[in-house]
Amino acid sequence: MAAQPHILVLGCNFAGLTTARYIREYAGDEVKITCMDRKPYLAFIPNIPIEVWNNNNPERSLHLPFIKFLDRDNIDFIQGEVQGIDVETKSVDFKPVERSGSATEEIDYDYLVIALGNKLAFDDIEGFGKYGHTFTDTYYGDKVRRYLHDGSYKGGPIVIGSDYFQQGKSDKLPDIPTAEAACEGPPVEISFSMAEWLQKRGLGGPENITLFTPAEVIAEDAGEQILDQLLPMFDEMGYGYQANTKGIKRLYEDGIEFEDGSSLEAEMKIIFPNWEAHDFLKKLPISDDQGFIITDLHMRNPDYPEVFAVGDAASITVPKIGSLGHMEAEVLAKVLGQEIGGYDPDEKIDPLEFELVCMGDMGDHKGFYMHTDEWWGGDTSILKMGYTPHMLKMGFKSMYYTTGGKIPSWGLPMSEFIADRTMI
Ligand SMILES: Cc1cc2nc3c(=O)[nH]c(=O)nc-3n(C[C@H](O)[C@H](O)[C@H](O)COP(=O)(O)OP(=O)(O)OC[C@H]3O[C@@H](n4cnc5c(N)ncnc54)[C@H](O)[C@@H]3O)c2cc1C
Repeated sequence: MAAQPHILVLGCNFAGLTTARYIREYAGDEVKITCMDRKPYLAFIPNIPIEVWNNNNPERSLHLPFIKFLDRDNIDFIQGEVQGIDVETKSVDFKPVERSGSATEEIDYDYLVIALGNKLAFDDIEGFGKYGHTFTDTYYGDKVRRYLHDGSYKGGPIVIGSDYFQQGKSDKLPDIPTAEAACEGPPVEISFSMAEWLQKRGLGGPENITLFTPAEVIAEDAGEQILDQLLPMFDEMGYGYQANTKGIKRLYEDGIEFEDGSSLEAEMKIIFPNWEAHDFLKKLPISDDQGFIITDLHMRNPDYPEVFAVGDAASITVPKIGSLGHMEAEVLAKVLGQEIGGYDPDEKIDPLEFELVCMGDMGDHKGFYMHTDEWWGGDTSILKMGYTPHMLKMGFKSMYYTTGGKIPSWGLPMSEFIADRTMI
């Protein structure tokens, strides 16, 4: 290893940016850190729906340029497209992407952090390009915004839900539950906030919307206690609900057809796809059977100890939710900090403790807050609704933008502290 170890962080959105900056804090100045991403800004995905309802183009408001934050921590940035990883030679192939036609280059590492998220497999859903809508990036968010605000939507039925998620398996992974949808907080959140948007404009309300899931129950990772409150509430409010669809077969002009043979009529089809691993991560010796990166609960690969993964790219991140990635980032940075020097060698580093912390918008400045570890066998289960969760969701974005992803260690716990105890 070089006198100054080189830590290469692939991906610089939520998981990568926070991890890189925490590594600098915990490992000190003696390491060289490089981040690589195909784009030089962070896409603040969780707030896309709010921008859409308010008729703001999310491409304008939710792209956070991050190079100034990396500069602050003396972290190099390469705007490149990762092409492949060779864990034997400890090198990564990439193409600079600012202009097309660049030649492939190679970069070496002593430690590798994979924070590349996933491929969202819309291209596997027949008819999505022509008939589908979604909120998973700012392009698609703006497409929904234009559709709704230019009067294209005529007040017909809307379906909101997920395709089947193929979770990765490996006997080297810690024991975690299996999900059949990658992340169902967004469909639930959008159902609430969209109904309020429709009501305000006299276009209908919950009765326009049917939520669907490939699983036995929607948002199963929220745990039984929360679902026992949420599902009857959906029913009373007038939402339609269809479970066990087994996945999406195709979208067509007037509806959606599911793998279980059923179909629903729909003017608008709001879809969350299968979260798939990137092709170049599949069949690597560090990957599970689907291409997600195998780690232990300290985010380290068991066979290649210089390889770490964090965020949606890590196999153990289920559901694919940013708050888990954030917790993983801190664990990982402490582990590296201790190994390379800089972080107290006597400090015990706790492994990742799974919990779901989620603040969703319900429209009209109200929101919901979920804090639960029931799905992983714990006994925390808190669901609250009111103005406070909305305030916390907006506050989280402000804190994120101000700190450049380096939320202070009290940031998430403070939100939990407020929301667990106080509700307006
Ligand atoms: C509508 C919606 C709402 C959500 N709301 C919440 C919420 O309220 N709370 C929450 O915790 N989570 C929420 N999530 C989930 C959250 O957005 C993700 O879990 C989070 O973005 C994952 O972060 P990540 O950094 O691991 O991956 P990503 O955000 O996907 O980032 C991956 C990065 O890698 C880069 N990259 C990918 N491939 C390459 C390549 N080949 N070469 C170079 N760079 C590459 C990308 O450009 C990107 O910057 C929501 C998701 C959606 C879709």
